[in-house]
Amino acid sequence: MNKSIINTGILAHVDAGKTTLTESFLYLGGIISTPGNVDKGTAQSDFLDIEKERGISVRSATSTFFWEDVQINLIDTPGHIDFSADVERSLRILDAAVLVISAVEGVQAHTENIWLALKEHNIPTIIFINKIDRIGADTQKVLTEIRNELSENIVVLQQSNNDGEAEATILSRWNKENITEEITESIANQNDVILEKYLDDQKLTFDELDNELKSATGKFRLLPILMGAAKNLVGVKELLDAIVSYMPKAIGKDENPFSALVFRIDYDKKLGKIVGIKLFNGQLSAKDIIRNKTQEKDEKVNQIKRYRAGKFEDCSIIKAGDIAAIFGLKNAQIGDVLGSGDLVPEEVKLNSPLLTVQVKAEKDNDYPALAEALRILSAEDPALEFEWLREDKELHVKIMGWIQIEVIEKILEQRFNIKAKFDDPTVIYKESPKTTAEGFARYWMPKPCWAIIKLKIEPGDPGSGVVYKSEVSVNDIQKKYQNEVERTINKALKQGTKGWEVTDLKITLIEGEDHTVHSNPGDFIIATPMAIINGLVNTGTKFLEPIIWFRITAPDELLGTITSDIINMRGTFESPIIQNGKFTLEGTIPVASSMEYPVKLSSRSGGRAKIKTRFHSYKECSEELGVTKPFKGISPLDEAKYILKARKALTEGIKGW
Ligand code: GDP
Repeated sequence: MNKSIINTGILAHVDAGKTTLTESFLYLGGIISTPGNVDKGTAQSDFLDIEKERGISVRSATSTFFWEDVQINLIDTPGHIDFSADVERSLRILDAAVLVISAVEGVQAHTENIWLALKEHNIPTIIFINKIDRIGADTQKVLTEIRNELSENIVVLQQSNNDGEAEATILSRWNKENITEEITESIANQNDVILEKYLDDQKLTFDELDNELKSATGKFRLLPILMGAAKNLVGVKELLDAIVSYMPKAIGKDENPFSALVFRIDYDKKLGKIVGIKLFNGQLSAKDIIRNKTQEKDEKVNQIKRYRAGKFEDCSIIKAGDIAAIFGLKNAQIGDVLGSGDLVPEEVKLNSPLLTVQVKAEKDNDYPALAEALRILSAEDPALEFEWLREDKELHVKIMGWIQIEVIEKILEQRFNIKAKFDDPTVIYKESPKTTAEGFARYWMPKPCWAIIKLKIEPGDPGSGVVYKSEVSVNDIQKKYQNEVERTINKALKQGTKGWEVTDLKITLIEGEDHTVHSNPGDFIIATPMAIINGLVNTGTKFLEPIIWFRITAPDELLGTITSDIINMRGTFESPIIQNGKFTLEGTIPVASSMEYPVKLSSRSGGRAKIKTRFHSYKECSEELGVTKPFKGISPLDEAKYILKARKALTEGIKGW
């Protein structure tokens, strides 16, 4: 029998009190003797200097403690929208979530984004309304916002007294002595048997109703709401009790085959590479050899450790449902599936970086060190997609927003001792073929080599990505060579004729030839990008630009100004909803024209207008509006040079070119 484990994520808009709540949990769980104070920079889970300085959690820290014999693995996630790649990764390993909302600020822009992701992935959630003691706290107002903006299926298990005062307290509305009618009704609505009894005025016991609440919460049909002041330990014990009562436990079994997911990577100066995994099924012991399913490689586990209150502790074995830090896995990357892959959920995509930025070292001889530091940061956060263009001596990373630049700058300085500068970011465009055409490549010189391929390239539907098929017989091109063509296509599409990733297209291998004596798999790896770029020159490509969805709420008198701003930014909107002297406007705008708009809007309205945004889609934009990027590295259009370089890369064992 497994012991019970609940991997719990604490999620919130920045400043709602995640770190303070984490500290209170660790204190009540007996892990730390005094709760750290984020304001004094002593919080245990904020382990980077920059976090201590800025007071925001940049990386997700994990910690373990016990509450009523249930092991709670706590995952504290970063709150700022710019770090949502990290939030996405933690969602894949969560059994339950606590969504923290401030009783003063209420539902904020990122709260809603997190909520949508939790909903999409059915992660059972409890909402904790924090800071009820703070001046301006108004729990009733926040409850209305939750109903209007997040979900109507809420069960408010407590009520607050003296909102906004230091001695604010909470009272239970749900226990054997106090079976609130409104809660009973919400629960009954979830289950026909209970509903019938309720409507017939039959006796319903507290346990019967509470069990149904548990089951509906586990299925994401009801959302329990609790409240308190994490800073004063008000409502924190009750929140832990509720997690243990209402949240589902990890479901894996120790006796099943090993199955795990790599959810984070850290590089530590002393300890080296630390691989954070969640074990969905089976067991893992130090010195085990495990299969990395994603990379199709075997690797040896040297040591297993657990992270507790800022320190690593050795442990010899971990079991299904648990998370741990593994040492010795040289190849593992974030998102890799280890073992069978059973129970590992699909990847979550909340946000992708929409901006790219060039990083420069202040001192010329810091370039190699800067490149190495960015390589490490990119392994820790693959969304950065670090690129090092050696020929041009250029370093590029992809980012979500401005704050991230500031954070990376500080990390480079504090952790790596490098001073770096960032250029202004550019929007990440994509490109897509304009028409249907063929691409041809004949790579047969200088011998030994032989790969001839012809591809048909057609435009695909918006959002369809890359669809590939082959119509060529294995008599013309052997299966193993065709596999190389298919494998190389995505890499070859990283840069089209305008320098951006090519998407929304169909590619069909329609003709080709191998040679029994001269062909090697590598020849097809070299020929595929040549045929693709030739095809894209023939189809011509159009720009796609990122578009964001927005919702603006502002005073009535600003309606005219704001709608004309949106039109000037090439945006579109639906009819505004006007209520109580305020209007709400929803629509879409291109990222390129709206990067500075939140700041402008705030100053225009004296802080009274609010804007919420999230990624919407990539849409075609005109030739004049797009920005063409020079080809990085050697283009396959420059055939002789490209072949020379690609051959060298292959013989040196680097995949691709
Ligand atoms: P995070 O950004 O969500 O991790 O939020 P923090 O835990 O860093 O808290 C943000 C600020 O709110 C800090 O100044 C905390 O001291 C303060 N804070 C957190 N919880 C409470 C609370 O329950 N009451 C009050 N009055 N302040 C709180």
